[in-house]
Amino acid sequence: MAKAGGQEVEKGVFEKASVRDARVNGKKVLVRADFNVPLDHGIVKDDARIVAALPTIELLRDNGAMVVLASHLGRPGGEHDPDLSMAPVAARLAELLGTYVAVAPGVVGDDVDAVVANLDSGEVLLLENTRFEKGETKNDESLAEDFAGLADIYVNDAFGAAHRAHASTEGVAHHIPAYAGLLLEREVRELTSVLADPGRPLVVVLGGAKVSDKIGVIDRFLELADQVLIGGAMCFSFFRAQGHETGNSLVEDEGIELAKGVLERAEKADCELLLPTDLVLGKSFSADAEPVELDGIDVPDGMMGLDVGPKTAAAYAKTIAAAGTVFWNGPMGAFELEPFAAGTRAVAEAVAETSAVTVVGGGDSGAALAQFGLADKVSWLSTGGGASLELMEGKQLPGVEALLDAEDANG
Ligand code: ADP
Ligand code: MG
Repeated sequence: MAKAGGQEVEKGVFEKASVRDARVNGKKVLVRADFNVPLDHGIVKDDARIVAALPTIELLRDNGAMVVLASHLGRPGGEHDPDLSMAPVAARLAELLGTYVAVAPGVVGDDVDAVVANLDSGEVLLLENTRFEKGETKNDESLAEDFAGLADIYVNDAFGAAHRAHASTEGVAHHIPAYAGLLLEREVRELTSVLADPGRPLVVVLGGAKVSDKIGVIDRFLELADQVLIGGAMCFSFFRAQGHETGNSLVEDEGIELAKGVLERAEKADCELLLPTDLVLGKSFSADAEPVELDGIDVPDGMMGLDVGPKTAAAYAKTIAAAGTVFWNGPMGAFELEPFAAGTRAVAEAVAETSAVTVVGGGDSGAALAQFGLADKVSWLSTGGGASLELMEGKQLPGVEALLDAEDANG
């Protein structure tokens, strides 16, 4: 047991009922998956989230369930938007499963009920985009009941949406027996194992755009980690809090006050907070901008800090190499732009090479790992951005909380 923001957390504990323990033979099972994937002209561009959902779907099919899948895709705002139909997901899923995957004629309603009624054991149906329904993001009670009416059992495998209390992620779980999918369970176990009794030193690398997105995680790890390494645009709020010039670098107004608070708390914490000591600057956020190294952190007028410098990257890589456990969230710079990708690449390579347990959360950190071909070189790459951060902050995820407790589940 270890201290985590005042709570006791046991290593990798998961106290919710698992789909492995549900009796599903001959039953209709509604599975909320996270198929919110990037599309390119009607084709799935990155199928990682679909692949991650396969174990639960295969388990259910093998055990004779009729599988009804649901997910949101993009932000259709409660309207039917043909560009955000689940059809491309169904096509990719069918290839991966090696079986036909039907797309329902809507999210809920009589036409959908009719298709569900005709399913046989082992067959797979994908409902239309749950956010075509206005009630989805409002966690509307009658929509939740409609979802529940489609099946005998509910399984939530959508870890990436588990921090949202929506009708298909939370509301529905109150109406039929609700279990955790294999991915959701694994995500919670892998992420919480960083908080509880981690191999030391625990090194936490935080970057990305905004301090306000990451403040909860920074504060929690000041209590838990041995070193917190800061990079990304976020560091400029810290530099401003320390009185440095940041030129045109991205600084969040609210971030400066937040950073001041972090710097004060870090003084008293048993944790070392490291900030960049050198930077790579550019005139604009553009792949054509010429990268200029700065041995220092005071950014001149007209320039913006777009990456950490080579000294910082080397120091962070050395700390990561000596770690027992690494948690990484948020790129070190504007890694999408090749001239400013080196800092993030150095951290990604160090995370891939270290013998430490390595857990990576956050959409863009995952995208960076994939860009460098290192996605399979970490212990766990979370499919959840916001959800993984909220879990690490110590918040309860509504999509997890609503599931049956393991001790109350009787199959
Ligand atoms: P994650 O999704 O991994 O949590 P964030 O969304 O917080 O990460 O941040 C990623 C974004 O931050 C990327 O688009 C990246 O370009 C941007 N970023 C990082 N460093 C800088 C910087 N110095 N200046 C401008 N943008 C930056
Ligand atoms: Mg992001």
